[in-house]
Amino acid sequence: MSDTALTPPSHAELQRIAAGLRLPDRAFLDGDWSASDNGALFETANPATGAALSTLAHCGQKDVDRAVAAARGSFRSGVWSRCAPEKRKEALLKLAALIRRDGVRLAVMESLESGKPIRDCLREITQEVPAIFQWYGELVDKSYGHVAPTGQEDCAMVVREPIGVVAAVLPWNFPLLMATWKLAPALASGCSVIVKPAEETSLTALSLAALAIEAGIPAGVLNVLTGPGETTGRLIGQHPDIDSVSFTGSTDVGRLFLQYAGSSNLKTVGLEMGGKSPFIVLDDADLTEDLIDNAVMAAFWNGGQNCSANMRQLVARSRQDAYVEKIIARTKQIVIGDPLDPATDMGPLISAGQRNRVQAYVAKGVEEGARRVLEAGVPNGRGHYLGPTVFADLRPEMTIAREEIFGPVLGVLPVDSMDQALQIANGTDYGLHATVYTRDLDRAMYFARRLECGTVAVNGFTEGDIKTPFGGYRRSGSLARDKGLEAMAQYQQIKTIWLRLSAMGLSA
Ligand code: NAD
Repeated sequence: MSDTALTPPSHAELQRIAAGLRLPDRAFLDGDWSASDNGALFETANPATGAALSTLAHCGQKDVDRAVAAARGSFRSGVWSRCAPEKRKEALLKLAALIRRDGVRLAVMESLESGKPIRDCLREITQEVPAIFQWYGELVDKSYGHVAPTGQEDCAMVVREPIGVVAAVLPWNFPLLMATWKLAPALASGCSVIVKPAEETSLTALSLAALAIEAGIPAGVLNVLTGPGETTGRLIGQHPDIDSVSFTGSTDVGRLFLQYAGSSNLKTVGLEMGGKSPFIVLDDADLTEDLIDNAVMAAFWNGGQNCSANMRQLVARSRQDAYVEKIIARTKQIVIGDPLDPATDMGPLISAGQRNRVQAYVAKGVEEGARRVLEAGVPNGRGHYLGPTVFADLRPEMTIAREEIFGPVLGVLPVDSMDQALQIANGTDYGLHATVYTRDLDRAMYFARRLECGTVAVNGFTEGDIKTPFGGYRRSGSLARDKGLEAMAQYQQIKTIWLRLSAMGLSA
């Protein structure tokens, strides 16, 4: 759906790169590849074909303990946590350069494992991911503490310290990008990190860990534990020697991480979770090609497997028919196909289970009386493909207007006034994102200030960039934010150092 400034290699060249890839097949602990202690394995597969890609370590208690010991050992040694900021900066900048060097290969790997279109993988991995490591790398030697006001007999310093051993628990929809949103500020802060990728998409996080060693990040500072959430994820959540978990995933699992923390060592838990975000078209907005492009991308980008997917589209009742007609015409232009083909806009969903879940929501929408105006095709052959569905005449109480679907479904919900649009937009358990289209700056600000969510985009669907924080209100997130200067707060402690100068005979 979105484009990249980079001219992608041809489909044939990408297939050649895919055929020559050497895929990781073990976890990465204490600076080296590692099979699981008990030899347990699980398989990762290509969602476009169903074919197995690699077998990976199903990490259990002993592996988690080893990873935590390696992370704790590196943290306590100070080799990273207390090294000169210039050294951390240099390593993070080197890591950015290495990702750029290997970017096409990593993008192909991610496309194969996640089913994401290669154009999106190339943009995320060759451009956004290295830029994020660079941004936080450059921040390392420009972050200051402060001196609090005191009398001359004292000196009070407020300093920031790395929080310790951090676990980053990740979803499958943006595998390396989500890893980077957490890793870059955590490493910049001086933490040692354990990454737990989603079991569907482990390969690029594993490859990144090997690049980190090449970049000069010491062994033990970045470890990757692979395995299912119910075992490996749970063991991480319950571990007594992990100081903080930064989680991105579903609200149900986010809730579990709070319980794990409560029943173990009260580790801090940062949560980025689901959403049910509105796309609001006020009656003064022209239904331009740009607006329709953004509306379609807001719902169908990444096959709708996007936490900020704007699938609830709130449009003045009088304009619903014109809007729906344009949405259908634009949606029909979406190219569904082989994720490795640069012409592809939409690949398969991540799994058969996810496709079944989305189809069940579509059936529920029909059953509850939403008008299906575009029916999803299910292409023949292997792979978990599902075309886009468009509904009109959504009502706020319908299941598909309330629950996160996480698939290619767009619903148009007609509204009769601005106030009603605002009330419906805010009338969910979630609060991650919203888009508003209007030509009137007053109305834009009226909505922006009253929408109860972490990001409001005006006249374009965007999640912002690395300089702006991203996170959710209510069940979309905790106070923690990814991206921006604000992300550093998840990975730092604040310490007060009070010097009684008078006791040393130094006061004025
Ligand atoms: P998920 O919650 O199923 O899994 C996320 C991670 O948690 C995975 O690594 C998984 O292995 C682990 N996990 C699963 N069950 C676990 C358990 N019982 N104990 C411990 N760990 C467990 O989410 P998903 O299906 O991978 O991703 C989709 C969800 O992520 C959607 O709800 C989406 O909105 C959300 N998401 C949010 C953001 C954001 O920034 N707010 C970004 C991307 C995705």
